[in-house]
Amino acid sequence: MASNSAGTCEPCGTPTSRRCSKCNEGLDAEGLSTNPTYYCATDCQTNDRPTHRSNCQSANARKQLYRGAQFLQDVFCAFREVAYDINIADIKEVDGKLHVCVSLKNFTAPTFFPFPNHLVRNKDDKKAILTLLSCTDALATMAELVRMCFDGLCEPTMGISEVDAPVSTEKHHYALRQLADEIEDSESTHSIMQITLIDGRNYVLDLAGAQYAQWRPVRPWDEWSSTYCLGETHYALLGSEAKRLEAINSGTIPRGPNTDHPLTTFEFHASKLFLIIVDDWEKSNNTSLVATLNKKLPEY
Ligand SMILES: [Zn+2]
Ligand SMILES: [Zn+2]
Repeated sequence: MASNSAGTCEPCGTPTSRRCSKCNEGLDAEGLSTNPTYYCATDCQTNDRPTHRSNCQSANARKQLYRGAQFLQDVFCAFREVAYDINIADIKEVDGKLHVCVSLKNFTAPTFFPFPNHLVRNKDDKKAILTLLSCTDALATMAELVRMCFDGLCEPTMGISEVDAPVSTEKHHYALRQLADEIEDSESTHSIMQITLIDGRNYVLDLAGAQYAQWRPVRPWDEWSSTYCLGETHYALLGSEAKRLEAINSGTIPRGPNTDHPLTTFEFHASKLFLIIVDDWEKSNNTSLVATLNKKLPEY
């Protein structure tokens, strides 16, 4: 048991400063710190175990989930910054929305472009621009790393799905505008992942949501779908987009206007490279990614 500030013993109500050390830094469904559970003595803790066990496990699972999601979003944004495929001519704020003007130059001869740091005002805008038009890229590139981060949190084959969902872009701050002066309509099909934790609760993992002002990479599914999702969702197994990427690279799917882009090849190699880097890092630090995500503060 850890000891710190004071509370009252969960089963008997005696004032105490000793608390369950396992869920001491656990998170609630919103990703915020849970209230600690106090026990005056080992007996009280042992007696309360059947009641406390599932809450304790859920709080810890969410710690790994929220930390893992932040790590994945950071990795994906760093990847986009070096593999940016949109030619941005200008970014300006109009009526509270960020209008991103995409140049149509070179549209038919796709290539990479330097990320337009000089047009970006702050960190949030930067994330929005980095994730613009990249939601299926996130699925394809990050699937294996997602599996690695959330190992032990959910059922291995069916616990994580890839989902296409119609989402609103209008009520958020970002709109895509091309130099042809067309503003995209207010609905877009967005690709995300759904994670079902072992306690049965569903969460959305939205690594490219910043383009629609959805900054948080993970949220409870119900909250996400009721405020943001506009209709029916379509499910596929985790790794489906990665398989498509692999098929394009191996020539099983012929290269065409939508697949013949250097980004496709780059993403394919990056997805493999991420695993090699993590594996290497785990070996040289003699730890695992999952163990690190579960570390206690201040070591984390
Ligand atoms: Zn007690
Ligand atoms: Zn606990």
